[in-house]
Amino acid sequence: MPWRSPSAGTGRPAVRDVTEELSYSGLERRAAACAEQFAARGIGRGDVVAIMLPNSVAFLAAMLGAWRVGAAVTPVNPTFTERELRYQLDDSGARLLVTAGAPAVEVETLAPADLARIPDRPVDDPPITPDTLALLVYTSGSTGQPKGVMLDHANLSAMAASLRRHIELGPDDQALLVLPLFHVNSLCVSFLAPISAGGSVSILERFAPGTFLDAIQRYRPTYFSAVPAIFARLAEVPREQIPRLPSLRVAICGAAPASAELLALSEERFGIPILEGYGLTEATCASACNPLWGERKPGTVGRALPGQQIAILDDEGRLVPPGVRGEVAILSPTVMRGYLGRPDATAEVMRGGWLRTGDIGILDEDAYLTLVDRAKDMIIRGGENLYPKEIEAFLATHPAVLEAAVVGRPDPVYGEVPIADVVLHPGEAVTEDELRAHCAQGLTKIKVPAEIRIVTDLVRNPVGKVDKPAMRRALAAAAA
Ligand code: AMP
Repeated sequence: MPWRSPSAGTGRPAVRDVTEELSYSGLERRAAACAEQFAARGIGRGDVVAIMLPNSVAFLAAMLGAWRVGAAVTPVNPTFTERELRYQLDDSGARLLVTAGAPAVEVETLAPADLARIPDRPVDDPPITPDTLALLVYTSGSTGQPKGVMLDHANLSAMAASLRRHIELGPDDQALLVLPLFHVNSLCVSFLAPISAGGSVSILERFAPGTFLDAIQRYRPTYFSAVPAIFARLAEVPREQIPRLPSLRVAICGAAPASAELLALSEERFGIPILEGYGLTEATCASACNPLWGERKPGTVGRALPGQQIAILDDEGRLVPPGVRGEVAILSPTVMRGYLGRPDATAEVMRGGWLRTGDIGILDEDAYLTLVDRAKDMIIRGGENLYPKEIEAFLATHPAVLEAAVVGRPDPVYGEVPIADVVLHPGEAVTEDELRAHCAQGLTKIKVPAEIRIVTDLVRNPVGKVDKPAMRRALAAAAA
């Protein structure tokens, strides 16, 4: 199995958070303890374990433990409402939920403290093959319905290898893990890649500028992966409050568009290269990135990562020449097996081995990729994707609401925030606050629209369809 460390048993710290620190052999023992607890509950090959925990050593140990018994892990956003949690549990078929809370869901739960109990007997590890399912990560892809992206151990190994080569990771590297572990960026760039290189990982539960800068001084990481919203918050810290951070050698910025100014400012302040990259859950994590040593082109997301290929296709699926826009497609051993239980949705995005991403881009003569648009209806708030269809459908469950349209409004800190236009049934009256309170019952905080505007009709094109590009243009013009 790929996630046994090359330096297991040397006593080097492998992972730590604010409450605990484990060497490689300590992490092995904790994973074995978790595996024993899972096995005792009948969890094995073919099963799915849901993990709903904040960033922590406990999260990682539970994941490694589930992998040891041949189970797959579906990571759940710990801020999810019960409605969102229930959907993911039902859709993934999870048999067990690891969580510190007590959600009202019909599934067996286990707390991290139960998992940490050292077993009386070791589990006989079942054979784990490259095609054993490892992760089921929920994302909406190009349509509104959250779907489970099936990633197997071969996908994860290929992703870790690609990242190790690109950022030249070795045993002396240490990641500062700050992005949420329910997202592939954090799991791959800040955990699997460094741990498979024999390096170490320091975990922050969440980002705050002061905590983050303190952690860099205390733990002395060599790199971190963050989203533009984090770099934007760090850019607001007065220069004299930024300490010298000599341990850092590189940082990765991805998941959402970053301005060339923000990248330049961040590089200058930290004195390290900041590599903008691009990826998506359906291709495990990252597929393109600016280089560590070669030319970094601001405004681009760099070139295909080692072992991966990127092409631009026209509407008929034909390759287009450099400089011409089209849909970004990826051919790589990191491309998912498909969406769980959704062969039609899978067939829509997988053609001839290529993954159609729903992102619109241009490759230049040197094969650097520039993202110019999104064909998919999606908002990126901070680094997290929000799917307007999910928010619109939930707004429409309010009895006063006839229909809703949600788009992203440019935001200086988060990049985009969701804004809703809502049309009420005739004769109904409801306030923005009431609608917001309704949303908060079924949608995690970041999905609740920053503004809900009650309108007499939605913005429509001449054939009567909701015209989201026009809505976005009006919001962008007003924001400017
Ligand atoms: P996820 O599956 O959550 O990783 O989201 C993937 C999507 O985020 C991609 O399909 C893009 O639309 C978007 N994305 C990722 N990286 C970038 C980037 N550097 N710039 C702009 N959009 C990005």
